[in-house]
Amino acid sequence: MANAQPVQISRRSDTDVAKVLVSGCLNGPPIRYNQTNVPVESPVWDSWDADGRLVPFCAELAAGFPIPRPPAEIVDGDSTKVLCGQGAVAEDVGTDVTALFIEGARLAVAHARENGCVVAVLTDGSPSCGSTYQYDGSFTGATRAGTGVVAQLLMDSGIRVFPESQLEQADAYLRSLPNRT
Ligand code: SF4
Repeated sequence: MANAQPVQISRRSDTDVAKVLVSGCLNGPPIRYNQTNVPVESPVWDSWDADGRLVPFCAELAAGFPIPRPPAEIVDGDSTKVLCGQGAVAEDVGTDVTALFIEGARLAVAHARENGCVVAVLTDGSPSCGSTYQYDGSFTGATRAGTGVVAQLLMDSGIRVFPESQLEQADAYLRSLPNRT
């Protein structure tokens, strides 16, 4: 009788799938400045979750901000200027928090690289995570087109960023990448 050969079982593991950096407050714990989260109801999200693609990260908590915290906006320039030392982020109470926001952005890029993230889906409107719009620095609720400092530094690092309202587009982009599952 021939020796039985060991059966090789091939199974997709977490390390095989393309990862997506996601804002920690998306469908996560209530970590936003006002101690809330941002619910996400999407089959794309559920599918990514089931596949082990999600890599949650909060740049503001990583930089040392507490929960809750005062709201902050980019009050001088835009995210690109903030990142090169020519702009400013401040809280509504007047505290300059520029250095902490830059540190959070650096930590987010490092976390994305360490975890092999090729795409990011981030909470729009945030001075950190926003990718299509920002509050305009007047703390009146007025908005303008623009990116937060985390989103901008991720983009500058070659990671494509989508807002949570564009999960289908993010999924299509993810699946279009060569040699990715
Ligand atoms: S920094 Fe980003 S992940 Fe953290 S609470 Fe703000 S929007 Fe959410």
